[in-house]
Amino acid sequence: MATIFSKIINREIPADIVYETENVLAFRDINPQAPVHILIIPKIEIPSAREINGKEHGQLLGEMFDVANEIAKKEGIFEEGFRLVFNSGPNAGQEVYHIHMHLLGGRKFKWPPG
Ligand code: 5GP
Repeated sequence: MATIFSKIINREIPADIVYETENVLAFRDINPQAPVHILIIPKIEIPSAREINGKEHGQLLGEMFDVANEIAKKEGIFEEGFRLVFNSGPNAGQEVYHIHMHLLGGRKFKWPPG
């Protein structure tokens, strides 16, 4: 089902887009939780990580990680480290049911998360 992220992909609503490939789009989170907070999404609609399987989506996921590493380098946080998160389903607090990888960086994070 289409979400607000489909509208960002289709340029129907604005977003601060930082990276784009044929299959993947990355843009700044509207409510950043760290100095660097970027969402990396596939252009195809997959609701959450629970619908991922390696056979079908392995290449796409690999591309999302490539994009995350490229952005981390561009943002100057590659060496110091960063956090990649997929919130998946209600208990994880997922709000938008178009799978997205959060790239968070620019500060120290605690573990375990809240
Ligand atoms: P989730 O909780 O589903 O893992 O994360 C959804 C993220 O999307 C949240 O961090 C939220 O701030 C972000 N978000 C929701 N709507 C928009 C929007 O319209 N534009 C942008 N750039 N980010 C959004």
